[in-house]
Amino acid sequence: MKCPGCGSKAVGKVGPEQYYCWDCFIEYQYHGNRAKLYVVEEDGGLVEF
Ligand SMILES: [Zn+2]
Repeated sequence: MKCPGCGSKAVGKVGPEQYYCWDCFIEYQYHGNRAKLYVVEEDGGLVEF
């Protein structure tokens, strides 16, 4: 599973259909075959990218 943002393979699974990229520090979630990107804030909140 590659990061849809930067194409990196340094991606970890953090939940069902939910992944985190260690290279660009975004979290993303698949809805069907569309990926939604989120920025993780310092307090752990998610902001849609
Ligand atoms: Zn990335």
